[in-house]
Amino acid sequence: MRIGVLAVQGGFAVHLTHLGSIGAAGIEVRAPADLRGLDGLILPGGESTTISKGIESAGLAEGIREHHAERRPILGTCAGMIVADRDHLGLIDITTRRNAFGRQLASFEDEIALPGITDSPVRAVFIRAPWVEQLGDSVEVLAELRGHPVAVRQENVTALSFHPELVGDDRIHAWFAGRCVRSRA
Ligand code: GLN
Repeated sequence: MRIGVLAVQGGFAVHLTHLGSIGAAGIEVRAPADLRGLDGLILPGGESTTISKGIESAGLAEGIREHHAERRPILGTCAGMIVADRDHLGLIDITTRRNAFGRQLASFEDEIALPGITDSPVRAVFIRAPWVEQLGDSVEVLAELRGHPVAVRQENVTALSFHPELVGDDRIHAWFAGRCVRSRA
């Protein structure tokens, strides 16, 4: 199985490490050709404006939208959630609020229950995290924090406000790899 990680900026390397530890081949996505034949795609955290510019300058938007149109799984984390939203790549019917938890909460951790993904709560690391501001009817909310959605799903696209790669827990990556296997079948 081949899972791509968008590698234009941000925390892609740690996602690749997690994919390696669950036995999936992680592919750095830097150019359109890297998107070919992927079973899944991870949009990592980082700085969403820089990532968006990097997608444009590398000519990756069309290939990512094709991956999406073929209903192959996509996981966006933190800035990756922003990049996937209506105002950016338009992969999921949400709008996001950047740095939503405010300055005093620039970085924090919490326990988040993710029904359908893990059978017990995960330790979630939020770093200048977004929340979901608006969402369409076909978007399912998997988790909320302080009254705002922080984990959402629409068909093949899952978006998380936090960084699942920054804890020693591979369950979210393993769940995502499982979705990739099923979507290939
Ligand atoms: N605040 C960042 C942004 O708006 C996202 C932060 C992150 O990915 N950790 O792009």
